[in-house]
Amino acid sequence: MAKKPISVDKLTPMLAQMELERLKAEISKHNQAYHGEDMPLISDAEYDVLMQRNTAIEAAFPELKLGDSPSDMVGYLPQEKFNKIKHRVPMLSLGNAFDRQDVVDFYERIDRFLGLDGQPIKLTAEPKIDGLSASLRYEKGNLISGATRGDGQVGEDITINLKTIYEIPQQLQGDYIPDVVEVRGEVYMSHAEFKALNERQMAEDNKTFANPRNAAAGSLRQLDSRVTAGRNLHFFAYAQGDMSEQNVQTQMEMISQFKQWGFSVNPLMQMFDNVDGLIDHYAKIETLRPTLGYDIDGVVYKVNRFDLQERLGFVSRAPRWAIAHKFPAEQAKTLVNDIEIQVGRTGALTPVARLEPVSVGGVVVSNATLHNEDEIARKDVHIGDMVVIQRAGDVIPQIVKVVLEQRKADSVAYEFPRFCPICGSKADRELNPKTGKEDVIRRCEGGLICNAQVTERLKHFVSRNAFDFDGLGSKQVVQFYDWGIIKDAADIFDIEAKDGNEWDTIRKRDGWGDQSVDKLFIAINERREIDLDRFIYALGIRHIGENTARMLARSYETVEVFLSSMQAASIPIGADGNLFNEAYADLVNLDGIGDVVALSLVQFFAEDNNLNFIDKLLFSVATIALEKADESSPVAGKVMVFTGSLEIMTRNEAKAKAESLGAKVTGSVSKKTDILVAGPGAGSKLKKAEALGIKVLTEAEWIALVSN
Ligand SMILES: [Zn+2]
Repeated sequence: MAKKPISVDKLTPMLAQMELERLKAEISKHNQAYHGEDMPLISDAEYDVLMQRNTAIEAAFPELKLGDSPSDMVGYLPQEKFNKIKHRVPMLSLGNAFDRQDVVDFYERIDRFLGLDGQPIKLTAEPKIDGLSASLRYEKGNLISGATRGDGQVGEDITINLKTIYEIPQQLQGDYIPDVVEVRGEVYMSHAEFKALNERQMAEDNKTFANPRNAAAGSLRQLDSRVTAGRNLHFFAYAQGDMSEQNVQTQMEMISQFKQWGFSVNPLMQMFDNVDGLIDHYAKIETLRPTLGYDIDGVVYKVNRFDLQERLGFVSRAPRWAIAHKFPAEQAKTLVNDIEIQVGRTGALTPVARLEPVSVGGVVVSNATLHNEDEIARKDVHIGDMVVIQRAGDVIPQIVKVVLEQRKADSVAYEFPRFCPICGSKADRELNPKTGKEDVIRRCEGGLICNAQVTERLKHFVSRNAFDFDGLGSKQVVQFYDWGIIKDAADIFDIEAKDGNEWDTIRKRDGWGDQSVDKLFIAINERREIDLDRFIYALGIRHIGENTARMLARSYETVEVFLSSMQAASIPIGADGNLFNEAYADLVNLDGIGDVVALSLVQFFAEDNNLNFIDKLLFSVATIALEKADESSPVAGKVMVFTGSLEIMTRNEAKAKAESLGAKVTGSVSKKTDILVAGPGAGSKLKKAEALGIKVLTEAEWIALVSN
């Protein structure tokens, strides 16, 4: 950790210049990490401290301000993978206020600038949503493009992804719609969705997100808009950009106009004409913060009248007429007592920091997530370290940084185990077959001999989206395993027949009585028939979440076809290592399945233990095919591909519609494809379909075909 920096008023010009250079490098590193990679290295509060110091030095030594100072930039440069969109009106960020005095200064500055001589100035106050800013452009009422903020001048074209957000109208409603309208606002993820997403990511052994903002950013900046659509993002509209004309003169009027056009606006926005009103509202919003269900990091104050905004104009990177009053970060210092390794269903080793309990923003925290081995190394966390932890909303606390000054002299770096702490098997990091990169997750290779994996598999088997037995939760299933009553999940179905014969009846054990056991047996018997998608999900195959399981169930229809296809796909991992038999090609070609998922399936079904388990399970359980889709529809049984951009339906809607009508939707065109729906911008798939003589429809023709 760096020494405490010299205070600005003690800097000599030479030191000031060095400090400005250092801050520029530091800030640009964090900009890249924060925006470019959706992976912040420091907290927002720490970032603000860097920016503030930079601004303070520039104010004290204006002649030393660098040509490419961080105060002239707003964030990061767009990544190469998206097309760029130039903002016709730049998207600037706001200056910050951290206490009451900053707000008083802001108000007085405006008063002086406008020469109003103490006449009240109306200002709006609204929560500052902690998400990702986006700008939406409508022409003649239709959404034609959407972009991220980018560097404020040029953003990334994420139109297709923004179209998947329910709260972003594709068409403006109402009587008054100018030819060109640009609406700006914040894309965010709710706490509930964030929690569910991380649980799904964990269940499928994918990387988890540090906070809802990173999750929203990661979801929005997907090259595959179907991923975005699955994330249930939200949008609040709060500003305008390029407008061909307008009939509103204030912030308040603009917001009600947004509402009429069909946008969601934040209900906590209010207007005040003095600093006390603003501060009271700030305090009220801070009190409401834990109950809002989404992250906010402050309150934004804006001058209400547009004509006054225009007079006030801009200074450097921020408007003079608005300011963000930030909340203090909910942070605390505590000790890392231990780093514990949890072993998941598929053998993933996940580190958790056990902390000396400490209160952070009113909640006692005793654990913090460390995500994975690389994260521990990056933050250089040792057991025994004093660390700064942070909680945002109701998100799992995280370790922000180590307080190096308080590290003990004999402290040693944490060594991530190379062997499973539960079963002692080797734990390795696999190579991703596609990228050739090492996986971030170290995995126990013990499989069925690993107690941790066996019990986690059992828990998964009885979980809500799998077999979901009434009265047999994760606690009970592990109890049965510990008692030796079951060795695997298929044994659950034999408990009733064996109870009291092969072991002392569970009716006499702690926590169980006649009534609960009778109920349990009924619940188990009710699951001797189960939907195929739940059955597939319950197998606990890596990367197979509930959505993928449903898609597999729809595509293969019966358990027999599913199993034989999976086995066929996994057979010729032959001498030449060739995976690409026809069954494998069919599998990879399904919409939503890529090489990673396909390989995971193939590996699972190549394993005798797993096949034996499935045989045993099917001895007790019958599967039900998913409800048959409408056989009479014109696309029933057809294999369909969607390509290009769809303008009326979102890709996800179109896919869901097609599937509900009995079509099978795949990701690429082959000779098995029956129909290709091609929107504007369709490329190679359209060419291939034409070459193969496949029926091609426009989006309008597709809608006409299915709407009756
Ligand atoms: Zn193990």
